[in-house]
Amino acid sequence: MKQPARGKLGKGSTATVSGQCVCGRVRLEFDFPAFWAWHDHSRAAQHAHGAAYATYVGVWRSRLRIVSGHDRIVRFEDRSRRTARNFCAICGTPLLFERARSRNMVNLPRALFETRTGREPRYHIALDESPEWAYRGEPLGPLKGYPGVLWSRPGKKRRIAKASVPRQTTR
Ligand SMILES: [Zn+2]
Repeated sequence: MKQPARGKLGKGSTATVSGQCVCGRVRLEFDFPAFWAWHDHSRAAQHAHGAAYATYVGVWRSRLRIVSGHDRIVRFEDRSRRTARNFCAICGTPLLFERARSRNMVNLPRALFETRTGREPRYHIALDESPEWAYRGEPLGPLKGYPGVLWSRPGKKRRIAKASVPRQTTR
């Protein structure tokens, strides 16, 4: 079987990375590859995503296109943090995350995309704000009587020593 032409885009890549919100009304795409990818453990990200942390891919604003559903996107500006969070007004999926300090860059939740984005999330921001209930890879075992449910035994949790985690600067 003939391999598809890879050109200069790299292994397994495509020229465009497409994603959408949960309800599918908002569709967006950016030019492969993303600029970088990172895990945001900050309290703000936790709260906005309802999760232990958020994982983003950062792309140049000029390389991002809202393909459909532009009129469904609601924008919330957090003036104290100088950020803006955009989400789908129908299903609530977080979409664009913008920071005033980097106006030419837009951060997109990694989970919007099922295919490769061209960057692995190798960076962690605000790890010292990570909640103690975040999963940190503790050993898990099957929970008897509940197929598919794994659990960690009490007392195995390792807390991150705040003093040992330097506060990272963001860009
Ligand atoms: Zn939606």
